[in-house]
Amino acid sequence: MNMNRGNMNNAHPRRMTQQRRAILDAVARLGCHPTADQVFEMVRREMPKVSLSTVYRNLGILAEQGDILPVRGYGDEVHYDHNTHEHYHGICRICGRMIDLPADTVKASAMSDEWRERDGFEAEEIVVTVTGICSGCLNATQKG
Ligand SMILES: [Zn+2]
Ligand SMILES: [Zn+2]
Repeated sequence: MNMNRGNMNNAHPRRMTQQRRAILDAVARLGCHPTADQVFEMVRREMPKVSLSTVYRNLGILAEQGDILPVRGYGDEVHYDHNTHEHYHGICRICGRMIDLPADTVKASAMSDEWRERDGFEAEEIVVTVTGICSGCLNATQKG
């Protein structure tokens, strides 16, 4: 199976249980930044005995291993991202949908250069979350 995870030449093969593999699969198949509940609903179809706490625990391990990225959504809900390449997020304040914003549209290196010059602050990680209205919700409002 081609997992298409970019960094496959890892010196230490990761311990991957069948459950964890199914959970990682579900995050990838659901695509658009699913929450733990959404992952649970999907995994449960194939593994009816899986519990929500097992899903939470394995999502935590996968995030620690760098296989997925936890992303704070609208409110306190945590979403899980299969796309571990650098990018930013736009969150729709109406439907809560989270979309990817390409990294090259945020001039992070220019920003950190300026902070270094102005304040001597060395930026290590920039997390950008933009709140707005997604195209689907915008279309729905315009139709009235
Ligand atoms: Zn929306
Ligand atoms: Zn994303």
